[in-house]
Amino acid sequence: MSLIVQKYGGTSVGSIEKIRNVAERVIEMKKKGHDMVVVLSAMSGETDKLIRLAQEITESPNPRELDVLVSTGEQVSVALFSMAVQSLGFKASSLLGHQVKIVTDEAYGRARISEIDTRRIMEEIRKDKIVAVAGFQGQDEKGNITTLGRGGSDTTAVAVAAALKAQVCEIFTDVEGVYTTDPNICPKARKMKKISYEEMLEMASLGAKVLEIRSVEFAKKFKVPVHVRSTFTNKEGTMVVQEDKSMEKILVSGVTYNKNEARITITKVPDRPGIATKIFVPISDAGVVVDMIIQNTSEEGLTDLTFTVPKNDFKKTMNIVKKVAKEIKAERVMGDENIAKVSIIGLGMRNHAGVATTMFSALAKEGINIMMISTSEIKISCVIDEKYTELAVRTLHSAFHLDEEPK
Ligand code: ADP
Ligand code: ASP
Ligand code: MG
Repeated sequence: MSLIVQKYGGTSVGSIEKIRNVAERVIEMKKKGHDMVVVLSAMSGETDKLIRLAQEITESPNPRELDVLVSTGEQVSVALFSMAVQSLGFKASSLLGHQVKIVTDEAYGRARISEIDTRRIMEEIRKDKIVAVAGFQGQDEKGNITTLGRGGSDTTAVAVAAALKAQVCEIFTDVEGVYTTDPNICPKARKMKKISYEEMLEMASLGAKVLEIRSVEFAKKFKVPVHVRSTFTNKEGTMVVQEDKSMEKILVSGVTYNKNEARITITKVPDRPGIATKIFVPISDAGVVVDMIIQNTSEEGLTDLTFTVPKNDFKKTMNIVKKVAKEIKAERVMGDENIAKVSIIGLGMRNHAGVATTMFSALAKEGINIMMISTSEIKISCVIDEKYTELAVRTLHSAFHLDEEPK
């Protein structure tokens, strides 16, 4: 007998009928003799709805109260799911973050899990119950409710699986696994049988929202086998596993896009020591995470500086930067919210030259201008005009032969 953690996302529990379907699926596993811990997201659209309600009251809701509010979506799901299991004649118990004791830091809205107490979950399992754990939420040391950031139920699931030393963590969603790119925008996307933690980390951080990035960090750190699969079929999905030799043979394994960033340029910035600190310290003090940064070579002691920030933080950052620009006597601050970042990811890139040129010429052939470029060992990202995102993704998918099965 083994312990299995399953996580069902918002679309999988989007209606009463769907919750019943999930209950039936979990009961099937229970009947086979497995101990079942089920992590659930809020019903689809609920978290957005709660955020909208808060914003109707104020543009910048108090972070503590916002977490108290948005965590309720998951509370509804676990309660309804437990009732569904019980109505089918099996035992179940719902547990909220603070009831399990999922301890996090105090960073409301993006809290990190520091500890999970497994005792209460194990107690319920020993009573032969199916345990439903609310995703996305925890409590800090003082007992305040915290949430883990959008998509955070994935992280709850993998962290719970790690703490319970589960045999596997199954992530059930509305697609059949991890694809070479988002199957909802590229019809030729292919489901991968397996993907390494490293590649999945890059894909998640570069926009493939099928797994939330921290869930992959947890999986990698604690070597949790993660199986991403569909709630609506019984097909095998994608295993996220440790890297093996065969994986390096594939040059590029995935293409991602991210439309959630904005670009800020400051022109004619004095090029002398200390200026970057003057610009970026107030931005990070405001809790804004800067992604790409490009500085041009300077002419007559002046340079242009361009960087990207999350779209949500765009207005706030523009206000900060305009103030600093005045102080340092830079010329102008320009902002652009209509950008997208497209990226290619692959372990094989480590040992191959020419990948970047293939990417640039494929985009050029379609007349897509590259505004910014950044690279790391296993990825290359380009910032482009947002309106070309879908075209760029499909073009890169073909250029790196991802439309076809690997030989
Ligand atoms: P859930 O509500 O189950 O957590 P999400 O919406 O967070 O589901 O994630 C699933 C979605 O991720 C898919 O519907 C798909 O559009 C998107 N996605 C983006 N990139 C990929 C990819 N490479 N493979 C699979 N799905 C992807
Ligand atoms: N309900 C939360 C969200 O919409 C968490 C999740 O679905 O994983 O972001
Ligand atoms: Mg998700």
